Amino acid sequence: MTVSVPADVLSRLKAVLGEGGWSQDPERLAPKLLEWRDRWVGTTPFLALPNTTADVAAVVGICFESGTPITPQGGNTGLVGGQIPQGEILLSTERMRAIREVEPFDDLLVAEAGVTLAAVHEAAAAVRRRFPLGLASEGTATVGGVVSTNAGGTQVLRYGTTRNLVLGLEAVMPNGEVWNGLKHLRKDNTGYDLKQLFIGAEGTLGVVTAASLKLYPVLASRAVAILGVASPRTAIELLARGKDEAGGAVEAFELMGRLGVEFALRNIAGTRDPLAQPHPWYVLAEFTAGEPGTAEAAMERFLAAGLEDGQIADAVIAQTQAQAQAFWSVRENQSPAQKPEGATWKHDISVPVSRVADFLDQAAAAMHAFAPGARISAFGHVGDGNIHYDVLRPDGGDDAAHSARREEGSRIVHDIAAALGGSISAEHGLGSMKTAEALRYKSPVEVAALRAIRHSLDPKRIMNPRVLF
Ligand SMILES: Cc1cc2nc3c(=O)[nH]c(=O)nc-3n(C[C@H](O)[C@H](O)[C@H](O)COP(=O)(O)OP(=O)(O)OC[C@H]3O[C@@H](n4cnc5c(N)ncnc54)[C@H](O)[C@@H]3O)c2cc1C
Repeated sequence: MTVSVPADVLSRLKAVLGEGGWSQDPERLAPKLLEWRDRWVGTTPFLALPNTTADVAAVVGICFESGTPITPQGGNTGLVGGQIPQGEILLSTERMRAIREVEPFDDLLVAEAGVTLAAVHEAAAAVRRRFPLGLASEGTATVGGVVSTNAGGTQVLRYGTTRNLVLGLEAVMPNGEVWNGLKHLRKDNTGYDLKQLFIGAEGTLGVVTAASLKLYPVLASRAVAILGVASPRTAIELLARGKDEAGGAVEAFELMGRLGVEFALRNIAGTRDPLAQPHPWYVLAEFTAGEPGTAEAAMERFLAAGLEDGQIADAVIAQTQAQAQAFWSVRENQSPAQKPEGATWKHDISVPVSRVADFLDQAAAAMHAFAPGARISAFGHVGDGNIHYDVLRPDGGDDAAHSARREEGSRIVHDIAAALGGSISAEHGLGSMKTAEALRYKSPVEVAALRAIRHSLDPKRIMNPRVLF
């Protein structure tokens, strides 16, 4: 459905944005209307390409007055369809790419919404700092997108989600007013924390235009290893052991099933089997430290103890940067490697770390009963209790038949996670995909409070109206 936008509103938007600041060219729009997994195709009457916060404020102000809905978009790497407009005006931050400030004494960097995560990493490295948020999509995902989805990634175990990495925000409110909250403060107990409402709001409370991001010292030592283990339960025991051995130095602890590794070997050119023999499960562990040699020594102690006790069947420590990258590439390609394998029911669940193995056991039993022959590829940030639990159609099976059962199958997986005290969206958000489903698991008290907050800021519900409650 395309919202019909009155001609005078379009004329006003074109006038404030100026030449190069908007487009209605179908070829220019096409890549922004297709989601990465080809699951959502959108429509829009108008693409706004603001260059500055003032431009964003002007666009949102006109839309508020006229009741015209808007979908904000950053890098279009979101996995739940929130950035794909279904008739709304599309506001892209692609031209807002300035790093406004880098302040090593405050350990802080201020970046505009359209700056990619990879560009933030580069700017931090230039002053011998780092921004510890790592996503396989970091070359394209933007500051506005990671803030608005509260992105997680591979380093949450140590540094937390985006929520823990933002010191301040600048945003345009749904009525077009600019809120400048770009603070440099580590401590600020002055009432409700507005930036935390924007983080994870998926574009429903306004447009994030810039963020102050926390920087950390660069690392002096890093050890990456891949381990073969018999079961997720053993992986969880090893995580506890790794924390003991390495103190605060466990940077990442990722789990992959054998099937996902086989998909990578089959479908991603250049992938090599990480260990000499196949194993039912793999852990990718990364330890880091500020002092030279410390992470490597902790990793060696950890592996030696695990091998001796039989918890680890086999393990290899990366000897070079290239080898570490090759191990990470097997993990990061778990999702892309599924694409040629056909229709998939994707899930992004979290449970308490202590319940991960229970979740995997219960979900496997339920899926084998519900969809005999379906192939299960489970992988994820096991150190955070976050599993990407993907159920692929049987080998040689019918895509349409598998897709037709998605809703019912996903309901079973979500109910198991919820019964274990978990969440149906650990890090991707709800978007268009999971908003209705999430209502089943939220209490009416919480939903009423969330709706009241949204209505008070956006009484006309112009901001990403399809998304959230
Ligand atoms: C290969 C791959 C790997 C991934 N790995 C991870 C992972 O490990 N962890 C993880 O958390 N995610 C992961 N993702 C998902 C995705 O990269 C993140 O959700 C990312 O934060 C989205 O950023 P983006 O700039 O692409 O946002 P978009 O996709 O453009 O938008 C995402 C949402 O944010 C809103 N939005 C975007 N910009 C703004 C803004 N300036 N103001 C207000 N709202 C805005 C949109 O309306 C939409 O609702 C992965 C995706 C891919 C393709």
